[in-house]
Amino acid sequence: MARIVMKFGGTSVADVDRIKNVARRVKAEVDRGNQVAVVVSAMAGVTNQLVDYCRQVSPLHDAREYDAIVASGEQVTSGLTAMAVQELGVTARSWLGWQIRVRTDDVHGKARIQGIETAELDRRLSAGEVAVVAGFQGVSPTGRITTLGRGGSDTSAVALAAALEADRCDIYTDVDGVYTCDPRIVRGARKLHKITYEEMLEMASQGAKVLQTRSVEMAMKHRVRVQVRSSFEDTPGTLVVDEDEIVEQEVVSGIAYSRDEAKITLMKVPDRPGVAASIFGPLAENAINVDMIVQNVSEDGRSTDLTFTVGNTDIDRTVQVLSSVKEALGYERLVPDPDVVKISVIGVGMRSHAGVAQRMFKALAENGINIQVISTSEIKISVLVAEKYLELAVRALHTAYGLDAA
Ligand code: ASP
Ligand code: MG
Repeated sequence: MARIVMKFGGTSVADVDRIKNVARRVKAEVDRGNQVAVVVSAMAGVTNQLVDYCRQVSPLHDAREYDAIVASGEQVTSGLTAMAVQELGVTARSWLGWQIRVRTDDVHGKARIQGIETAELDRRLSAGEVAVVAGFQGVSPTGRITTLGRGGSDTSAVALAAALEADRCDIYTDVDGVYTCDPRIVRGARKLHKITYEEMLEMASQGAKVLQTRSVEMAMKHRVRVQVRSSFEDTPGTLVVDEDEIVEQEVVSGIAYSRDEAKITLMKVPDRPGVAASIFGPLAENAINVDMIVQNVSEDGRSTDLTFTVGNTDIDRTVQVLSSVKEALGYERLVPDPDVVKISVIGVGMRSHAGVAQRMFKALAENGINIQVISTSEIKISVLVAEKYLELAVRALHTAYGLDAA
């Protein structure tokens, strides 16, 4: 007998028929003798609709009310799923974040889980009752409803699996696993049977939308065995595991891309100590996340150009913040460019192989693609290129690293 957490995303609970399908899957696990906790997202599209209501009422809304509103989608699906499971003759009940007590901090809209009180759930699971938990939500220290950031029900599921010491956390979604690259762009993309936590973390944070980044961090920290699989097909999915579980490690495991990038160039920034701090300080104060940064040596020892990237949605605020300190910084011109994408090749095998970056640069050069910014980590190389080259670049790299399906 195993204890498992089954998480179903928005497309898997998009309507009543699909919720009934979820219930059948849950019953199948119960029939196998397993203890089951289910975590559900809101029906596909519902959270977007709720966010939109908030914007319509108040563009700069009270984040506590935002959370009260956007958390409601999961209340509906958890109740419906529990009901559908009951219809199949299995004992089940729904749980909202505050009922279990999924305790979070009070950073509304992107709260972090601090702890989950599991005593009652634990008792009921052991007695054979199915728990259907509303994902994406928790409760703040002052008792207000919080949400965990978009895509946050993945994190709810992994956190619950860790707290309940589950044997597995199955993430049921509309794709049947993690691929070497987005199959919508690269026809030869292959499903990975296994991927390491570290690679999955890079894939998620570099734009692959399969799992919320924070859920992978949490899985890695607590060594939760995560499986990404389809809720519509019965094929085995992708296991996210420890590195030593992977026998034959490829040099590059996958290629990710992110369209959510904007490039900012500051022309003729004075080249003196403290300048970087006075540029990135105000951005940090405004909660603007900076990703890639390049600064050139100055030709004349007096001024230099500085380029960095921010999320697409932050571009206007970045321009606003830096324009307001233009005098103090003394740069000449600010050039924003939203038409860029970041492409990353990822693989833990990079640590022990030379020439990985070279192969990337060569493949891009052969296709006439100019690299604007480069950044690297131990297991990742990312480049920024013009958006129009996205497909071409990704396909060329997939081939260059021998990832195409035979
Ligand atoms: N329903 C929430 C969202 O769309 C959480 C989730 O689906 O993971 O972001
Ligand atoms: Mg999701």
